[in-house]
Amino acid sequence: MSGTEYHRLLGMGESAFEALTAHLEERNYEGLEYRHVPDYRHGVERGTVLIDGEVVRGFPKIPRTLVLAEGIPERFGDHECERIAVEEKLNGYNVRVARLDGELLAFSRSGIVCPFTTRILERLVDLEPLFEAHPTAMVCGEMIGPENPYTAHEYPGVDSIAFRAFDWRDRESGEPLSVGDRRERYERFDVPQTRLFGRYEIDGAADSVCEIVRELDAEDREGVVMKSPDGTAHLKYTTAASNQGDLAYAFSLPFDYGKPFMFRRLIREGFQTVEWDESDETARKRAHELGEAILLSMRDTIETIDEGGTVGERHTVRASSETIEVLLEHLRGQGLQLEIEADRREDGDRVVTFCKRTQATNDKIRNYLDGHIVEE
Ligand code: ATP
Ligand code: MG
Repeated sequence: MSGTEYHRLLGMGESAFEALTAHLEERNYEGLEYRHVPDYRHGVERGTVLIDGEVVRGFPKIPRTLVLAEGIPERFGDHECERIAVEEKLNGYNVRVARLDGELLAFSRSGIVCPFTTRILERLVDLEPLFEAHPTAMVCGEMIGPENPYTAHEYPGVDSIAFRAFDWRDRESGEPLSVGDRRERYERFDVPQTRLFGRYEIDGAADSVCEIVRELDAEDREGVVMKSPDGTAHLKYTTAASNQGDLAYAFSLPFDYGKPFMFRRLIREGFQTVEWDESDETARKRAHELGEAILLSMRDTIETIDEGGTVGERHTVRASSETIEVLLEHLRGQGLQLEIEADRREDGDRVVTFCKRTQATNDKIRNYLDGHIVEE
């Protein structure tokens, strides 16, 4: 399809589309050529895909508040809504599913067709009836669970990997359904969804959200996404368990995670302890946990390397042999170095544990242990 038609689908001028083309990344999925917007800043959502004459819109970035009491009215005040819907924020990886030329494809956040997710979804949820009824739907959700090649996290009741829908948009326009319609439709099509805690009046929502977040925190869950009932405005807020869990993970691979990643999570903890008006004793407990998250994970890593081992991002996946093959090929194709640590058969599936090599952490820590002098 010519750029002219794509620009119309995207609702942009010809020259704006020309400018965008320079930033599009070209890819191929099983012989199907497509282009996607790999990053922000081009006036089109990151993750937007141009494929086979069709457009699949990116999933919008969700803003965050550091202070619930101020952030909620600030974010939703102009949306002419009296209430906000509060849903659980699940910790996994984002996926958008669309039907193109009769085939379901699962796209990553940045707009890459993930061959693993595309295949594994088939056994997790039957989306055919939904797409029969709504061919231009874009099913947005999170892939969660411990046997997960990107973001593994334990959830009670999820032994391997599972899908939870949290949004429904038109794939061409990116327009969302209202929260009510979306939840009702997913229920009708028997698609599992993220939990809805309820709808709360904006005045006073902060107190209710705070209570929900405390409960989620106690269960080591990630947090909440608040939404205007029409589905157009979002706001996220996370638990200390999530902030600290991320920090522990990042400090176990300290030179492979950007410093801004760590800094942002530390700052969240600062604002939470103040907004929640913690006593000295409670704040000290938080400080202690924060310190442990940072130091103990780093200590483990340094010790592992000191003893001659290597560290990396370890994942286990369970799927058919073919699905595992395409996943490993896909990850290697993205420049990742993988080490296969275990590979066995179980109930007809292949269960593989692999480790994504994190070069910088291994090399730097080895050097420092060898006495490398730091100029700082
Ligand atoms: P971005 O905000 O751009 O998605 P990020 O990696 O910083 O990037 P997160 O901090 O994880 O993302 O927060 C947003 C993501 O949360 C969404 O992209 C989505 O994958 C996930 N998510 C989990 N549960 C929900 C939910 N109930 N509603 C909306 N998004 C959810
Ligand atoms: Mg996430």
